[in-house]
Amino acid sequence: MPHVRSWIDVPAGSDFTIYNLPYGAFRKSDGPPRLGVAIGTKVLDLHAAAAAGLFDDVCDRGALQAPLLNAFLALGRPTWKAVRLRLAALLRDDDSSDGRLRALDHTKFFTEQRDVRMTMPVYVGDYVDFYSSLEHATNLGKLFRPNSEPLLPNWRHIPIGYHGRSSTIVVDGTPVVRPSGQRKPPNADVPVFGPSTRLDIELEIGFITGRGNRMGEPIPIGDAREHIFGLVLVNDWSARDIQAWEYQPLGPFLGKSFATTISPWIVTLDALDPFRTASPSQDPAPLPYLQTAERWAYDIRLAVELQTEKMRAAGFAPKTVSQTNFKEMYWTMAQQLAHASVNGTLIRPGDLYASGTISGKTAENFGSFIEMTWNGSKPLQLPDGETRAFLEDGDEVTLRGWCEAGDFRVGFGKASGRIVAAR
Ligand code: CA
Repeated sequence: MPHVRSWIDVPAGSDFTIYNLPYGAFRKSDGPPRLGVAIGTKVLDLHAAAAAGLFDDVCDRGALQAPLLNAFLALGRPTWKAVRLRLAALLRDDDSSDGRLRALDHTKFFTEQRDVRMTMPVYVGDYVDFYSSLEHATNLGKLFRPNSEPLLPNWRHIPIGYHGRSSTIVVDGTPVVRPSGQRKPPNADVPVFGPSTRLDIELEIGFITGRGNRMGEPIPIGDAREHIFGLVLVNDWSARDIQAWEYQPLGPFLGKSFATTISPWIVTLDALDPFRTASPSQDPAPLPYLQTAERWAYDIRLAVELQTEKMRAAGFAPKTVSQTNFKEMYWTMAQQLAHASVNGTLIRPGDLYASGTISGKTAENFGSFIEMTWNGSKPLQLPDGETRAFLEDGDEVTLRGWCEAGDFRVGFGKASGRIVAAR
C-alpha cells in the first residue's frame, strides 16, 4: 500500500485517515445539517467545498449541498468514485495533490468534530435486517427453541431477513428509552405488561444502497457493487422478553422497532476495498442467483464496550465485553442484496440493509448479551464488582469497527447509546 499523507493532521490510531474519507451529515450550533467528510479530528464541509467550485467538473453541486446524502447516492458509482478521487487529491500532501483547497481560508471549510453534532446521513426509506451469522442463528435457535434443531431447514438456502422500522433509526449518541410491552414470564399462563426486563443489543454492520433498480427488475448479484455505497455500524437494540412472546408466527415486531443506532459516518466500499477477502465456503451451494466468484467478505474488526452508570461515577473506563470480525459472516452483502431484490421489489438510494448479529465461535466473540451470558445464566463480571445479564438503566453500549494493516487504518468511529428509564 503506497504511503499517502494528508496536510491535515491525522493523529496516530485515527479511524479517519486519508484512506478512509467517510461521508456524514453534521450541524454546527443551530445551523442546518450539512454534508461532510471526516479527516483526522476534523470534518470537511462539503457544502462549502462545493460552493467553492471544487467538484463542479465531477458532481452536481446540489447533490453535495443537500442536508442528506440520498441525491448523491442516486448518482451512482462513477460519480462516487470521481468525488472520492477529488477529495483525496485535495487533501493529500504530495506532488499529485490538488492545491486549490489548501490555498483557501481553512476556517471556512474545516471544523473540529467535537464542535459539531452528527445527524442522520441519509433518509432511510426502507430498512431490512438479515440473520446471516451461522453462529448467531445457531445460538439463538438453541436459546429460543431449546427442544428442536437450532437451524431451521431454510437457513442455508436463503439469507433470512425481515423488514425493520426506519423511523426509529438514530445516530450515535441518541439516548434509548427502555421499551414497554407484553411479555410472558416463564411458567405464567398469561402475559403481563411493563418495561422490558431483558434489554439487549445486536452488533451488526449495515450497507447503504445507492442508484437503485426499477420495480420488477431484480439486481443481479454481479451488479451488487454498483448499488452498495458504503457501510455503517448498526446496533439492533432488542427487548428479548417482548421478542420471545411476539415473534411467532410472523417475526420480530415491537421487540426491535423502538430504536436502531447507526454510526454517523458512512465508510465507502471503495475505502474498504483493500480489506476485501474470501467469505466462508457455503454448503450446500446456494441457488445460481446467489452465486458469485467475487470476494465479498470484509476483514473488519469489531468490539462491544459496556459502561454502567456506577462505572462512570467511579471513573472506570468502558469494558470491552466482546470482539469479533465481520469476515466470518455466512451470507455476504452481495447475496443479501441479490436476494432482497430477486422478487423485483424497489431498492432505493439510502435504504439500509443490516447484516444480522455478528457472532464468532466463543462467548468472547458473541454479538449480543443473550449469547454472551447464555440467556442470563452466566452474567458478565464488571470491573467495579457489578454483574450484567441484560442492560440496566444508565448502561451505555458502544460499538466500534475498524480495518487495520500496519499504519494503514480505516475505521467507523462509534455507535453508542445510553439506556434511559421507561416512560
Ligand atoms: Ca438483528
